[in-house]
Amino acid sequence: MSEPILIDVLIVGGGAAGLFALHALRGAGASVLLVENNSLGFGQTTSSQGILHAGVKYSLGGLAGDDAKEAAEAAHQWIQLLDGANADLRNVRVLTRQCYLWRTSTLLGAAGMLGAKLALKTKPKAIASIDRPSWLDGVGGEVLTLGETVIDPRSLLRELSTPHAHAMLKGNVTSITPRTSDVEVEIESSRRVRVRARHVILTAGIGNQDMVGLSHTPNVSMQQRPLRQAMIRGALPLVFGHCIDGAKTRITVTSDVFAAPDDVKNAGHASAANDVVWHVGGQIAEDGPRMGDKEFLEYATGEICRCIPGVSLKECGFASYDVTRAEPHTGDGKRPPTGFCRTQDRITTIWPVKLVLAPKIAAQLVKDMEPSTHPQITLPMDLPRPELAPRPWETARWSALV
Ligand SMILES: Cc1cc2nc3c(=O)[nH]c(=O)nc-3n(C[C@H](O)[C@H](O)[C@H](O)COP(=O)(O)OP(=O)(O)OC[C@H]3O[C@@H](n4cnc5c(N)ncnc54)[C@H](O)[C@@H]3O)c2cc1C
Repeated sequence: MSEPILIDVLIVGGGAAGLFALHALRGAGASVLLVENNSLGFGQTTSSQGILHAGVKYSLGGLAGDDAKEAAEAAHQWIQLLDGANADLRNVRVLTRQCYLWRTSTLLGAAGMLGAKLALKTKPKAIASIDRPSWLDGVGGEVLTLGETVIDPRSLLRELSTPHAHAMLKGNVTSITPRTSDVEVEIESSRRVRVRARHVILTAGIGNQDMVGLSHTPNVSMQQRPLRQAMIRGALPLVFGHCIDGAKTRITVTSDVFAAPDDVKNAGHASAANDVVWHVGGQIAEDGPRMGDKEFLEYATGEICRCIPGVSLKECGFASYDVTRAEPHTGDGKRPPTGFCRTQDRITTIWPVKLVLAPKIAAQLVKDMEPSTHPQITLPMDLPRPELAPRPWETARWSALV
C-alpha cells in the first residue's frame, strides 16, 4: 500500500459544518484534508432554508431560552461575516435581510405572536396595513417585520469550498483507527488512500452514525428527525417569513428564482425558467413524512393557501422531497437546544443543529487546535474532488396545480 498522507486534521463530511471547519482550520495554518462521499452539502445544508434565525422561532412560547439567545447572537456574528468581516463570505448570495411574521386569526396565533414580541432583544416591528406587501392581502391578524437574513446555502458552500479545492477528496472512509499519537484512516477513492491525522473531525450529518461506529467513539448517539419540504413554482412574489399559530410555525417560506440545468427546466411543468420557487417548511414539513404523496399535496397546498390567502397557486407547479435532520440524541426526540461538539480520543463529533451555529463551532475548533506540525496538503490531480450538491428544486419532479 502507498505511503500514508500525514496531516493535522482530517474532516469527514463536506456540509456547512465540515466546510466551515476546513476554512477556519486552514486559515489558521493547519494541514487539513476533507473527505466527502457524495456531493458537498448533500442532505441537510442544500435543503436548508438558509435562515440565519434571529431567535424568534425558538421563542414563540413567550420565553427566549438559551437556544433563542444563542441563535440570535450567532446570527449577529454571521451578518458581520457577510458584510465583510471575513472577506471570503462577502459573495454569499443574501436573498433578504428581512422576514415577515404574521398570524392566523385564531387566539392561539395571537398568543404566539405576543410571545415573540415580548421575549426577544431584537424585537419584531409591527407594520401598518398600508405598508404590507400585497401577498399578505387577506391576512386577518397582525403583521410584523423581523431583521432575519436569509442566504442561499449553495452559494455559501461554493464560497467556502472554492479556495480549498486541492484539500478535498471524494471517497468513502472504510476504517478509522485511533493510535497513540494520531488516527489512521483508510479511504476508498479512485484508488486506496491512507491518511494519518493527529485529529479527526466527524461532520457527516446523518453519516456521523456510521463514522462514530467505525471509530468506536463511545457515548455519542444520534437522532433523526424526518421532514418533508414542499415547493411551489410559478409566477409568484418573493416571500420570506413565518406564519405562526401559538408556539408553532405553521409554515416557513423562503424564495429564490428558479434556475436549473436545461435538461430539468421543464420537466413536468411548462412555465418559464425565471419562475420563483417557494421553499416551504415549518409544521407541514414535520407532519409530511406520515402522509402519502396525494395527501401531502392537498394538505400542504391547503395550508399554504390558508396562510397566504392573497396569492393564487393556480397554474403553479408543486413538488416535495424528504430529508432527515441529523442531531444529537435528546431522549424525547425533540429538537436539541444547541449544537453538539464533543472530542474523545482525537476524534471530534459535530452536529451544528442549525446552519447558523456552524461558524461558531468552527471558531472553537481553531481555539482548541494544537500547533500545526505538517505542511498544507495539495492532493495529487488523479484523485477526484467532490462537486456541489444541487438545490432541491433543481432535481425535483414537478406536478401541475390546477
Ligand atoms: C429542511 C431543512 C431546513 C433547514 N433550515 C435551516 C435554516 O433555515 N436555518 C438554519 O440555521 N438551519 C436550518 N437547517 C439545519 C441545517 O441545515 C443543518 O443544521 C446543517 O446544514 C447541518 O450541516 P452539516 O454539515 O452538519 O450536515 P450536512 O449538511 O448533512 O452535511 C453532511 C455532509 O457529509 C457527507 N457525508 C455523509 N456521510 C458521509 C461519509 N460516510 N463520508 C464522507 N462524507 C459523508 C454528506 O454527503 C454531506 O455533504 C435546516 C435543515 C433542514 C433539513
